Amino acid sequence: MQQWICNEPGVLVSQQVEMPQRTPGFSLLRVRNIGICGTDIHAFAGNQPYFSYPRILGHELAVEIVESDTFSPGELATIIPYFNCATCGACLMERPNCCENIQVFGVHTDGGMREYIVVEDRYILPGNGLSADELALVEPLAIAAHGLRRAELKAGEKVLVMGAGPIGLFTILLAKIQGALVEVAEPNKARLQFCVDNLGVSEASSAAYSTVIDATGNLNAIESGFAKMAHGGKYVLIGLQKQAISFSHPEFHKREATLMSSRNATLEDFHYVINLFRDGKIQADKFISHRFTKNQVPGIFAKINEPTQQVIKAMITLAE
Ligand SMILES: [Zn+2]
Ligand SMILES: [Zn+2]
Repeated sequence: MQQWICNEPGVLVSQQVEMPQRTPGFSLLRVRNIGICGTDIHAFAGNQPYFSYPRILGHELAVEIVESDTFSPGELATIIPYFNCATCGACLMERPNCCENIQVFGVHTDGGMREYIVVEDRYILPGNGLSADELALVEPLAIAAHGLRRAELKAGEKVLVMGAGPIGLFTILLAKIQGALVEVAEPNKARLQFCVDNLGVSEASSAAYSTVIDATGNLNAIESGFAKMAHGGKYVLIGLQKQAISFSHPEFHKREATLMSSRNATLEDFHYVINLFRDGKIQADKFISHRFTKNQVPGIFAKINEPTQQVIKAMITLAE
């Protein structure tokens, strides 16, 4: 079978390798679609912290069951790419998304940019009639859903989403579905316009929001978000950057504010997103701005890194 491996930053090569072998409790899966996300782009560029090479990228997957003890051959599925130890404190508290020993598929271990993969059954979620495009979007949507679950949004609540990359867009979409009054802060005019046109949100204009969500991972943006919280407000950081964050303690105290991080997503979030697709609440096509086929894979990162491309979500169809 064929696989694509990132040998070092900037180098993605195609290889012919043996098919992976399945053992009991694991399924052999054919990779149908791969969504490309910021993590993949940063890893390819060489600026993803704690990343080691060579590495097979790809964690936003639609797969087809080939051989399994649990699932039927031919069935479409997605995977939860956060492999956890099941025994640490976080796992025992049913928070495997922040497992102390987490191994993210395609980040810490080799991922899905290959024709076939073998994955433990407990990480496989049946597709329930979703298309391959939809299934490959479930993981990034689940990240957004998890951030909102942390915020415990109430209908009618004023929410500010900072950053309109894919995670920000999905956060806006889901917050609106949950009945929040959402505004967006995004310096890139084209991205801002996409939100206004496709998600019906307006640019941030209010002085205070009961929930502020960062989806930028940018230090300045994150530090500016504290002042945007209303009294009694919450601040959820989905985005991640490398520096220490500083903020005014008196300002934070007088608001009796709550600061939270949001890492990965849980099974609940994945089910929530799958159900929204089933109910027709999310249109996959709206977010897929670029499509690639198998033969185009080696050049994909060069293509989507061109600033003129205005990439929202790039989707590779490996097999139909
Ligand atoms: Zn991702
Ligand atoms: Zn654990």
